[in-house]
This record gives sequence, structure tokens and C-alpha cells, in this order.
Amino acid sequence: MDRIIKGVCFDNKARLALIDVTSGAQALVKTHDMSPISAAAFSRALTAGAYINSNLKSVSDRFNLIIDGKGETGRICIAGERGDLKGFMDVPAAATKLTDGKLDVAGAVGHDGDMVVIKDLGLKEPYIGRVPLVSGNIADDFASYLFKSEGIRSAVALSEYLTADGVVKAGGIIVEALPGAGEEMTFMLEDIMSNFSSLSSMMTEKSMEEIGEFYFGHLHTEFFEPEPIRYGCHCNEKIRGIIRSLGRSEAESIIEENGVIEVTCDYCLKKYRFDRAATEALFSDG
Ligand SMILES: [Zn+2]
Repeated sequence: MDRIIKGVCFDNKARLALIDVTSGAQALVKTHDMSPISAAAFSRALTAGAYINSNLKSVSDRFNLIIDGKGETGRICIAGERGDLKGFMDVPAAATKLTDGKLDVAGAVGHDGDMVVIKDLGLKEPYIGRVPLVSGNIADDFASYLFKSEGIRSAVALSEYLTADGVVKAGGIIVEALPGAGEEMTFMLEDIMSNFSSLSSMMTEKSMEEIGEFYFGHLHTEFFEPEPIRYGCHCNEKIRGIIRSLGRSEAESIIEENGVIEVTCDYCLKKYRFDRAATEALFSDG
């Protein structure tokens, strides 16, 4: 089951999150028919998105995470609504790019662009954090976002294990220094980071609970109850809104020309067809 396990460590000077998005990544990679390198980049973004989602306070809060490095994968978009995660990317079939025999995710995502996080917390204006990408590997970019936009020092590891059959495991570990933690915490975070290099293969052998115990068990860590990670798309209303926003005359002229208005949801690829009667109903409903 996909879940996020949070805890505090270093005598409450840092908090950590162990994130497993394996089944969500598997399902979305399949839905969007992603190539290995697109699947790897997407899985990392999904893990970061699961973390943002888990920190929203209310079930009515929403967020969007957009990673646009101007590389071959194009934009990667993760969003959360009513607690459910979803995502898509511009180029799900990006060509394999290898460096030293490994998938070069950073190279494929590129770093000539931004990471943008939009949070709709039910306030007058949404919160928008935009930071330039520093690497394209998404983990370093997310750490940079947390620091520059939210003032949080962190260590971020996002990892995936792929075979020819697809995603075997996907997830990550995020450790944040809490306010009041001294400078020495920066060194501790760097030290922790250097240990995460074998995370992807470890995820295939151990549960997230076991990995948490392995890395943090000796650091005065208290783990909390795991929180389930859910997925889903609530596009039905949104698609109606998109057609309404065309305006009645524009919608009618499309019907006149094509006989039908077709819209596909970017996230779940569900196809919506509005014929003349359905379109008229849409505008007379108000
Ligand atoms: Zn949808």
C-alpha cells in the first residue's frame, strides 16, 4: 500500500518522511504509456507531490507541482485535490538517455526552467512558489524549492527502481531541519544524504518501515502512524467548466462545425464528448 510515514528525529530537531508511491507510479506510468526515462522522472515528481499533499491541512486544499526544465520530458505536472493525487507529463515517451550506463533523468528533464508549486488553501489568493531548477534530477530541485520558497533546510532523496517491465519501486525520503535546529543540522543533513545512494535497490528488499529503522533508528527517532496515499482525478466538473468558459457562441460554432465537442482530461485521459443536446444542457444549467 502506498503510504507516507512521518517522524521526528535528532531529539525533535528534524522531521522526516518516508514515502512509498510504488502502486500509484505503476498505474500512472501504465495509463500514460511512459518510457523508462519518463517513468523515472515522473515517479520522482510524484513522490515530491505526495509530500506536498500530505502537508496540506484541509481536505479542500489543493496543489499543483509543475517541473519545467525545457528538456526532452517536457513539463511534469502533479496535482492533488480532495486528498487524491494525479499527474501527467508533456512527453511520456521521451527517448532513453544514458550517462555511465544509468538513466540520465537530470539530463532528460533539463534545468533551464522552473519548479512551481501552487497551493490553493482556500484563501483569497493561492500561494505560488517558483524557483529555478538547479539540477533537473528533481530531488535537488525540490530541496532548493523548500529552502528558497519555504525557508526549510532539507535533505531530499527521490528514488525509483525500474526493470524492462516498468516501475518496481518508487518513493523517497525527505528530512527537514525544524526551526531552532542549529547549524550543525546542515552537516547532519548532508551526512544523511550521502547514505541515501543505495535507496533504490534497498527499496526492493525492505519495506519503508525497515528502511526508516535502518537509516534513522539510532537517531532518537519517533515514527508516527503511516498515512495512506490516495490517487484519483475529479475532472468531471472541471471539464464542464472548461467548456462553459468557451462561451455559448464559441461552443455552438464548434458543434456547428464538428457536431460534437471532445475534451480529454490531461491527467486521467478520460474522454468527454458533448453533442448538441449535452452542450445546450450545459449552458442552460447555468
Ligand atoms: Zn481526469
